[in-house]
Amino acid sequence: MNIIIFGPPGAGKGTQSDFIVKNFNLFKLSTGDLLREEIKKKTPLGLKIASIVNSGSLVSDDIINNLIENVVSNKKYENQIIFDGYPRNLSQAENLNKLLLKYKQKIDIVIKLTVSLDVIKKRITGRLTCSKCSKTYNEFFSPPPANMICCQGGVLQKRDDDNLDIAIKRYETYEESTEPVLDFYRKMNLVKDLNGEMNIESIQSEISGYLTVIEGWLCKITPYKYIF
Ligand SMILES: [Zn+2]
Repeated sequence: MNIIIFGPPGAGKGTQSDFIVKNFNLFKLSTGDLLREEIKKKTPLGLKIASIVNSGSLVSDDIINNLIENVVSNKKYENQIIFDGYPRNLSQAENLNKLLLKYKQKIDIVIKLTVSLDVIKKRITGRLTCSKCSKTYNEFFSPPPANMICCQGGVLQKRDDDNLDIAIKRYETYEESTEPVLDFYRKMNLVKDLNGEMNIESIQSEISGYLTVIEGWLCKITPYKYIF
């Protein structure tokens, strides 16, 4: 089963994709990780990427698509990928479709976490992190202990990068840029909209429900996979 997960920054996409990876034995494919890995390996492509990133430019679709093909063509990951942060635009989505077809795979479900801008704002402005144990709280949704002490020696702090204007801009940019991509998958009847404002466990159980159905269905149409 291959999955794509969408959700604006602050929607809890990371938490949910980690949950899926763990419970459904998938590999998370994030373009950020792919780029960082390639840079670390110092391959000719990695060096090229490093110079692009260092100059502050965006890495081209071509380069990203190449990196994605390396993963999709690898038997180790066959039909076990969760795409996180990709495809980011329509041309990437069309490319992914071509690639999957080439390697006889497909996307089985697209999960869209929907969260209103208002809730995103509260999640960001209300977030408190313990300086000692890194536990996070939120003034609005999961308040810290009344005395504002999490653990001994810990101070609850607001993160520096929690700049609201930037967050609003990111949210709006994300929603605008992924809308055409979502439409693309809606036409294929693959999108499940999930209310990202529910608590983490409720979202996880909804996701589990969908994925278990898909797994059962895949198991029935490809029984040979399970004989050996
Ligand atoms: Zn603490």
